[in-house]
Amino acid sequence: MMLLPCPWCGARDAGEFRYVGESGTRPDPATATRDQWRRYLYFHANPRGWVREDWYHGAGCRRYFTVGRHTVTNEVRTARGRS
Ligand SMILES: [Zn+2]
Repeated sequence: MMLLPCPWCGARDAGEFRYVGESGTRPDPATATRDQWRRYLYFHANPRGWVREDWYHGAGCRRYFTVGRHTVTNEVRTARGRS
C-alpha cells in the first residue's frame, strides 16, 4: 500500500488520488508551436530517482498538489498545494 500526504487531508491511500503527471511548466497556448505542445503532452523523462509529480485528490478534498517522490521506493519527501 502506498500513502500520499495530501497537504489538506493528511496521509491517505494512493487509491484516493489520480496521477496527473510530471510537474512542469505548461507552454503558453498563444505562442506555443505544435512541437512544444507535442513534447509537453507526450514526452516524459520518467527517470529512476526523485521526481516532482502532480496529483489530484479526487476521493477527498478534490484539490491538486505536487509531491517529490522516488520512483523506485515510492518514498514521498515533500507535498505542497497548488493554487
Ligand atoms: Zn485532500
